[in-house]
Amino acid sequence: MIDFTLTEEQKSCQKLVREFAQNEIAPTALERDAEQRHDPQIVSKYFGIGLLHYAVPEKYGGAGLGSLEGCLFSEELAAKDAGVAACLLGNILGLTPFLIAGSEQLKEELLPGHCSGPNLAAFCLTEAEAGSDVTSLRSTAKAGGEEFVINGTKRFITNGGVANLYSVFASEDLSLGHRGISAFVVPAGTPGIHHGKKEDKMGQRTTDTREVIFENVRVPARYRLGQGRDGFKISMMTLDESRAGVGAGAVGIAREALEAATAYSKERVQFGKPIAAQQAIQFMLADMAMKVNAARLLCWHAAWLHDHGRRNTMESAMAKCFAGDVAMQVTTDAVQILGGYGYMKEYHVERYMRDAKLHQIFEGTNQIQRVVIARQLLEA
Ligand SMILES: Cc1cc2nc3c(=O)[nH]c(=O)nc-3n(C[C@H](O)[C@H](O)[C@H](O)COP(=O)(O)OP(=O)(O)OC[C@H]3O[C@@H](n4cnc5c(N)ncnc54)[C@H](O)[C@@H]3O)c2cc1C
Repeated sequence: MIDFTLTEEQKSCQKLVREFAQNEIAPTALERDAEQRHDPQIVSKYFGIGLLHYAVPEKYGGAGLGSLEGCLFSEELAAKDAGVAACLLGNILGLTPFLIAGSEQLKEELLPGHCSGPNLAAFCLTEAEAGSDVTSLRSTAKAGGEEFVINGTKRFITNGGVANLYSVFASEDLSLGHRGISAFVVPAGTPGIHHGKKEDKMGQRTTDTREVIFENVRVPARYRLGQGRDGFKISMMTLDESRAGVGAGAVGIAREALEAATAYSKERVQFGKPIAAQQAIQFMLADMAMKVNAARLLCWHAAWLHDHGRRNTMESAMAKCFAGDVAMQVTTDAVQILGGYGYMKEYHVERYMRDAKLHQIFEGTNQIQRVVIARQLLEA
């Protein structure tokens, strides 16, 4: 049988994050967006409720929770500020290669320290010439004695300037294409790490997104993850794991836009009655609600598969892609329902629309998700 009931623990965590988002994130969302400001105080407070490192096993100082819980948190956080959600969940994205492929010794060495405070991680894969085509990355990792020397520039990195730990993908042998890529964990204090300027973004402006430059960065050989030259696989496994949560963030934005549009339609009177009395508006709201629910179920299913040890490459791509498209459609419709007011910043829905757009681009564009889905279908 299928049971969609959340456990009591999941419900109480969801409530905790919903209240946190309502009380600590929502009141300042507009001004943070306008100022394009990352807020370390929110990170500290979120650490304070014990969920910043939710996916890290308890023995290393995390909360030991799974992907489904990640979806719950992502939806609640993104509903109030998708940029803050990207920052907080970006920590888990940055840690995931490490959790998947780090040695026990390395985890014991680095994770308890990271998890003991409001520390953030960042996932450094994208480069100027390597966006959708990750195999074109030019960053290098040269082995020498007991260490690796990393050189390269990573672009559009979430938490780029504020992370304490980076997972970095670099090639040990560029002639081998994706078979030469290795994954590394690099503490932010390592000499040779520089930050580019903060990107001026359309949406999700409250995340620190920037270039991270690695210039002769020396890390001990044990900081290489996995067996070496398996970095491409580690990066794909990471994205399989994270995409359900990214989709859930899109669900959060869409849910909030739907709620705003529903409330407004009941208040706004034109032609002597609320616009909600018009069937044209009712049908828009009904379509929006169907899409939000369907997107949420796709995300939960992809997360459930992961939490039950099942491969979810196709389902997580479906979840991320569908939810991202839904967020774009629903937020656009919400702006439409609010009419001219929807176009004004103080009504928030234009921000949801700008924030939603990123969900069709990052963690692999929605075209690339369709490539992944089609490949899985055709190879089956
Ligand atoms: C705000 C933000 C935060 C980000 N955070 C991170 C991060 O933390 N870490 C990280 O590593 N990266 C991050 N990224 C990078 C993001 O994952 C890439 O931008 C994304 O994968 C697309 O790469 P690109 O921008 O180079 O676009 P391109 O790959 O140049 O794509 C341009 C267009 O061509 C299309 N296209 C390309 N190839 C194909 C194909 N084979 N079939 C069909 N269409 C195709 C794309 O869908 C897109 O529409 C972030 C990006 C942004 C904007």
